[in-house]
Amino acid sequence: MKYEAVIGLEIHCELKTKTKIFCGCATEFGADQNTHVCPVCLGMPGVLPTVNQRVVEFGIKAGLATNCEINKYSKFDRKNYYYPDLPKNWQTSQYDLPIAEHGWVDIDVEGEKKRIRLTRIHMEEDAGKLVHSGTTIKDSASSNVDYNRTGVPLLEIVSEPDMSSAEEARAYMEKIKAIMEYIDVSNCRMEEGNLRADINVSLRPVGTKELGTRTEMKNINSFKNLEDAINYEIERQTEVLEDGGHIVQETRTYDPARGITLSMRSKENAHDYRYMPEPDLPPIVTSEETIEKYRSELPELPDARRARLEKDFGLSDYDAGIITSSRAMAEYFDAVVATGADAKLAANWMMGDLAKNLNEEGLDISKSPVDAQRLGEMIQLIMKDTISGKIAKKVFKEMWTNTDSPEKIVKDKGLVQITDTKAIEGIVDEVIANNQKAVDDYKGGNKKAIGALVGQVMKASKGKANPQMVNKLLAEKLN
Ligand SMILES: [Zn+2]
Repeated sequence: MKYEAVIGLEIHCELKTKTKIFCGCATEFGADQNTHVCPVCLGMPGVLPTVNQRVVEFGIKAGLATNCEINKYSKFDRKNYYYPDLPKNWQTSQYDLPIAEHGWVDIDVEGEKKRIRLTRIHMEEDAGKLVHSGTTIKDSASSNVDYNRTGVPLLEIVSEPDMSSAEEARAYMEKIKAIMEYIDVSNCRMEEGNLRADINVSLRPVGTKELGTRTEMKNINSFKNLEDAINYEIERQTEVLEDGGHIVQETRTYDPARGITLSMRSKENAHDYRYMPEPDLPPIVTSEETIEKYRSELPELPDARRARLEKDFGLSDYDAGIITSSRAMAEYFDAVVATGADAKLAANWMMGDLAKNLNEEGLDISKSPVDAQRLGEMIQLIMKDTISGKIAKKVFKEMWTNTDSPEKIVKDKGLVQITDTKAIEGIVDEVIANNQKAVDDYKGGNKKAIGALVGQVMKASKGKANPQMVNKLLAEKLN
């Protein structure tokens, strides 16, 4: 039997508010343990929470940016469970009346567009963090609890199980990340856990509609782990089913070091949490005017920006998709073009040498040693024929470690393109005289032989001869 995967994601997105969701404690990352705590976030008896209005604003904006309906009447609920990192023994979250519902985003994987539906977006507080004395809880003699993160605001963005491969799940999470960055509600730093996903995976025979039993993998915080964990889980479940076994509904953990998922605990159902309305917080009532005000404050979103780059600059759909896939990329591109650089060249350089160098060093574009201004200046040198595209690669490489302006680098290294006809002609004559065979081949009808001669001229000029002029002069002299 052939199976198809059914995948849904719950993405937890940490909001970039200054203070926590129900108290005035700072949300700052990396502070000493238990320095950002107060009686409210520690769950002391008799204290009362108040909602941070910024969290509601961010929840509504996230909903609007993902085509959700905003619930004008929304409320908080208690999700009851016990764990040492949860001082109240419940998490204040939302249950039946979340801030936003019924949205969608479009993704594309290898040129195929697909719409992924969002079930809901709800607001909730984060839990604290266990700090083990060893590397894992199993080999630790003791563990501390750090409550700094307790009460940090989160949005939980829940999708319908509309994805069927690891690539689609990745594309969806990238899209959510981009949208949250564009609307500026989260730093989306995955390595700091700002954005993490719980992934539901089940299999069903191809062509059937009924959902199979699913497993859940928690707290995946990199795109690579997301893809690897899903692919592993699809393979594992396929083997179980093909051997005549059945899938156990459970929570599994992904171990990136070994590339496998492991059973953690049998999966609980919603009713196990004994959800109940939060009595200490009034419902959130939002007017149409407020919603419209937030809508008017939304910036241009990734899909609209992509369409604009295609229309205004003639970029291909693929190129525009990559350039707008993160806010940092899109802003870098705009800044390069603002220097007067050609847009297509800007896109090519960003997706070529710049992306390659950033990847090699594991750098984000915001940390690029070659900033938008300098890349723009370098592209203008190409546009003015001061350097050829080939020499530009050398210049770019030098710029990576040398903070001088591209113009100065080109001068200092003697890389200015030779555009003097006389100078090029001299080299061309020499090459024709010394490569009789290629010349004969060309004259004998093998037009491709000119390539070898162009190569010789470029080599003799150390790559500095203007390639178009070389081609033209050679053709003139040979005919
Ligand atoms: Zn607090």
